[in-house]
Order: sequence, then structure tokens, then C-alpha cells
Amino acid sequence: MSDDAARLSRRQLLGTGTSVGCAWVLSSRVLEAGLFGMQQKGGSQMAFTQPPLPYAMNALVPYLSEEQIQFHYGRHHAAYFRNLNALVEGKPEAEMSLREVVKKSSGSVFNNAGQAWNHTFYWHCMSPSGGGEPKGELAAAIDRDFGSFQQFRKAFSDAAVTLFGSGWAWLASDADGKLSIMALSNADTPLRYEKEPILTIDVWEHAYYIDYRNERARFVEGFWSVVNWDFALARFKGRTGPEW
Ligand code: MN
Repeated sequence: MSDDAARLSRRQLLGTGTSVGCAWVLSSRVLEAGLFGMQQKGGSQMAFTQPPLPYAMNALVPYLSEEQIQFHYGRHHAAYFRNLNALVEGKPEAEMSLREVVKKSSGSVFNNAGQAWNHTFYWHCMSPSGGGEPKGELAAAIDRDFGSFQQFRKAFSDAAVTLFGSGWAWLASDADGKLSIMALSNADTPLRYEKEPILTIDVWEHAYYIDYRNERARFVEGFWSVVNWDFALARFKGRTGPEW
């Protein structure tokens, strides 16, 4: 859904806020919205809601412990949503999609919106049935742009391990499907560079401090055992769509 369509739907939704049909409309809209579309709004609802994890807290064991996910999803990711909601209360950003806020905001609003969006994306980049190699047109594009999957994997890992301080390593696509690896600091995202995120790993220390202490390289290596290529392929195919 485009930002404009999301905004229009939200106005329509808010217009029906007191009707009996509201609950049904709200729940079906939330389902339709998927990961990052319209967030649940209206009444006393917060502007932005942290989406559920796409798997159980212990689903990525042994790569990530239940405690690591509890802290990362339940404390860090949740805090970005809480902070963002407090920052945008009563402001125009509260009526935007999260993606729109990420693309247009700055300062603390951007930091929290970016981190809220990035983590939601990140959870989907891993799966208990993940691992292996990319498929289909994403595999072909990786071969074309990086030489081979093994060369891509090494370049992505190197970017993640050597990123100074806190941030994210991304595989991103431009509108023509040209792939690139981006190592971005703090909450920064390919969305700010007119590129579409395809895959990411969080290399903030809070992503691995319980399970790996200071050993970022070992944390990055383990990512390949759970990487969700089905998700990455879907994102790559949808790159020209209005929402993805
Ligand atoms: Mn994180």
C-alpha cells in the first residue's frame, strides 16, 4: 500500500471510529497491513504498535537463546516503539505510516522510528527453517552483482563485522534491481537512500551481548544458519511495489 493510500484509509477508519463495525474494520485492516502497513490507530491506541515476533522466543536456539531474544525484542525493540509513540503524540507523524516517518523525520523521532522499522524487518530476516543459499531471481542477481554467493556472503559478513560502533549491515536493491551492501550506523537504513532493504543483520552490541559477549564475528557467522532467503526473495521481487 502506498503512503497516500495508507493515509486515506486511516482517515476513513478514524471517521468510523465510534461505529459498531469499527472492531472488524480495524482487525481486518491490521491483518491486511502485514508487517509495516498501516499501524493500529484511533481512540486511545498508541500511534505505532510493535508487531509480534514471526516465531517463538526460543525458535532460533542454538543461534540465539530465548533470553537474548527476550531482551532484544522485548526490551530494546519495544522501547523504540514506546519512545516513538511518546515523541509523536499529537504531531503529524502520528498519522503517517512508519515507513513515511523513517523517510521524512530527523533527530530523536528518526532514531526511534528507524530502529522500530529496522528491527521488525530484521526479525523476518531469520527463520528456524532458514539457512542455505538464495534462490530464484535473487540468487541470479547476487551472482551478477557480487560474482558468486560465496563472495557476497564474505562481503556482507565483512561489512557487518567491521562496521564501527553500532549499526546495521544491509543488502539493498535500487529500483532497477541492482544490489549493493550498505554498512550504516545507528538507525540508518537504505530507505533514506531511495533503496529497498532486502536483508539485514543488526550489529548493535545489544543484538548479541547475552549469547556472544563481545564476539561480533561469531554472531555474524551464525546468522547464515538461520538466514531467511524466502523473505529476502519476496522483498527483492516486490521492490518496485508501492509499499516494499
Ligand atoms: Mn537491535
